Amino acid sequence: MDKMFCYQCQETAKNEGCKVMGVCGKTADVANLQDLLIFMCKGLSHYTLPLRKFGIELPEVNRFIVDSLFMTITNANFDRKRFVTRVRLAYELREAAKEQLLKAGGSPDDITFDGALWQGQTEEEMDAKAVSVGVLATQDVDVRSLRELTIYGLKGMAAYLEHAYNMGYEDNAIYAFMQKALVMTTDDTLSADELTALVLETGEYGVQAMALLDKAHNETYGSPEITEVNIGVRNNPGILVSGHDLKDLEELLQQTEGTGVDVYTHSEMLPANSYPFFKKYSHFVGNYGSSWWHQVEDFENFNGVVLFTTNCIVPPRRNATYADRVYTTGASGFDGFKHIENRKDGQPKDFSALIEHAKKCAPPKEMETGTIIGGFAHNQVLALADKIIEAIKSGAIRKFVVMSGCDGRMNSRSYYTEFAQKLPKDVISF
Ligand code: SF4
Repeated sequence: MDKMFCYQCQETAKNEGCKVMGVCGKTADVANLQDLLIFMCKGLSHYTLPLRKFGIELPEVNRFIVDSLFMTITNANFDRKRFVTRVRLAYELREAAKEQLLKAGGSPDDITFDGALWQGQTEEEMDAKAVSVGVLATQDVDVRSLRELTIYGLKGMAAYLEHAYNMGYEDNAIYAFMQKALVMTTDDTLSADELTALVLETGEYGVQAMALLDKAHNETYGSPEITEVNIGVRNNPGILVSGHDLKDLEELLQQTEGTGVDVYTHSEMLPANSYPFFKKYSHFVGNYGSSWWHQVEDFENFNGVVLFTTNCIVPPRRNATYADRVYTTGASGFDGFKHIENRKDGQPKDFSALIEHAKKCAPPKEMETGTIIGGFAHNQVLALADKIIEAIKSGAIRKFVVMSGCDGRMNSRSYYTEFAQKLPKDVISF
């Protein structure tokens, strides 16, 4: 029997599935516990659906499900302990929801899905259960694919929603859909056609989740504007922020102000440089290094502290010198990296340990100099609409191409770079 089965990303082994350990570095036990956590979220949703019919919304459960889905996306969290704790919490929340449903006049005894009933608490019980509740538990390959497509859509939405609620933006209708969808992936009576419709509906809600986060970002930090982003370094110790949680960046910038520690973005955090709000910080220097899969070299050269606010973590090599300089927060985690706990009682996260650590580090090694241009977000493009229309009319712009995704670490995966480089000069890519 295979030790695990995961085929949720393009790196999956032989384009079939990771069966021994993840190409991403995820171990089999962690992969299985992630499956168990999803199984528990499905079970939890079996209670929240009928509770909503009584007008009862459980904000803590809504956020728990979002966080849990987010933690299981590729490269986000490799820390077994966090998943064990999380499964226990799912169990507690589920029992509380069951109690509430009973009190409201519902019939929790009618719920028969295993994830709504399973009682295991010890790590041994979790490991034993986890191997039987993953992707391959669905036998029919079409149904399996459609269920998993839905789950991966929900995981993507969860990333947006987690950032949005960190900034105080939530939409119960999206939470309700996500939980309905989780329950539908447990319904053996649904046909492939019905599941195809669910996949499409997941896509529609995914757009709503993106719009919610876009609103949160624009209203909180201003609309991104065309910006020359510095890619050089200064002579102070630094903190390199990766991932895409802007609330974390905001709080870190506030807490590092006047400390003599500079802050840089890495990889997916690059767009933060184009928001007006962040530009006011003189110690926010710019962007350092390249894409997520170059982090192994970039982090060595950076010399300072690295903070992962979300995915994409690449497990450090055995001889890496930077592992003790890396911190995670939010949904991200890695056994061996230090973790900054979540906000409590409306207070900001406490980044003091990380800042003190950074002060003792050497300044970053210069890898590049100069600037790159960013900030071509929708409001900025609309502000230039008259010039763009003029360019189309004159023939200076012939076509627009939408590019979505990123290069991978295998040589065969430099598709996006190659595609962009080969586009004719009169074609604009987004
Ligand atoms: S997330 Fe990791 S384990 Fe899953 S398919 Fe991708 S590389 Fe494999």
